[in-house]
Amino acid sequence: MIWDRAMETMDRQRLQRVQEMRLRWTLNWARERVPFYRNRIDRNISSEDKDPFVFLKNIPFTTNTDLRRQYPLGFLAVPRHELRRIHTSSGTGGKPTIVGYTARDLSMWAEVVARSLAAAGALPGHMLHNAYDYGLFTGGLGLHAGAERLGMTVIPLSGAGTERQVELLRDLQPQGLACTPSYALNLAETGMRRGEDPKSWGLKFAILGAEPWSETMRQRIELALGVSAVDIYGLSEITGPGVAIECSHAKDGLHVFEDFFYIEIVDPRTGDPVPTGTLGELVLTTLAKEAMPMVRYRTGDMVSLIDTPCACGRTHRKISRVVDRRPEERN
Ligand SMILES: [Zn+2]
Repeated sequence: MIWDRAMETMDRQRLQRVQEMRLRWTLNWARERVPFYRNRIDRNISSEDKDPFVFLKNIPFTTNTDLRRQYPLGFLAVPRHELRRIHTSSGTGGKPTIVGYTARDLSMWAEVVARSLAAAGALPGHMLHNAYDYGLFTGGLGLHAGAERLGMTVIPLSGAGTERQVELLRDLQPQGLACTPSYALNLAETGMRRGEDPKSWGLKFAILGAEPWSETMRQRIELALGVSAVDIYGLSEITGPGVAIECSHAKDGLHVFEDFFYIEIVDPRTGDPVPTGTLGELVLTTLAKEAMPMVRYRTGDMVSLIDTPCACGRTHRKISRVVDRRPEERN
């Protein structure tokens, strides 16, 4: 199922116009409300009427170091009382980054997670076993809100003991599983140790992320649990899980929801764009985020752009799975 057919299958030209309008809004919003961006934009840009895509390329990247320097809430574009939620990034060394969300940000996030779940194979009325950690980490509450938006029933397992999780998988027979790939295997192995066949739990799909995983691991998980397993990508600095998702049709890259996130892929040494299909660092700009707009955020994740039409019908371009982080970002 495609959750938001109008947006997700929009022709590229119209999608670009949506991006253009939202990028213009983001740049104005960030400039007016975040001193860090005001300084950067005013120093680098002369006219506001320029093509916002060209305008954007003149703004320096935002790095983790910049976020740490503004700790805890220096990047906020709204007064604190307008925040409805706080999460933090795990941080790759040093202080974590604190991220704030307005009500609209939370709604946009639920929307992209609902789209992601649908791409993985979820339908309204399905049940989701959500074993992502609920707390400051964005996985648990992120998947939770998106599943509710889609019309699913959520079982909020979070960090409940693995034996208990296996019991509930067997007893409730949910269609969907959300957790890290290694935990999906752990659940299957725990079930097998107890003499159960995990395939009898009736799971149909698994939406896995928050750690790198291989095709071999996908095959092991699919075989052990009898599911279709897809990779979900996201990072709290940008919003959380749901920035990009593999579709169950192709499983050959992750559709980035380009109406909400603008992609650049650059050479990590020079910052110049790399040719389509070449591995480079993913740089993201949020297009509709109120509380903490991010302009040209360097994710540290190495991906390549896949710019070919997908069998699923979605027109949003794909990125390859994150297989590596740039050297200085490694833990
Ligand atoms: Zn697809």
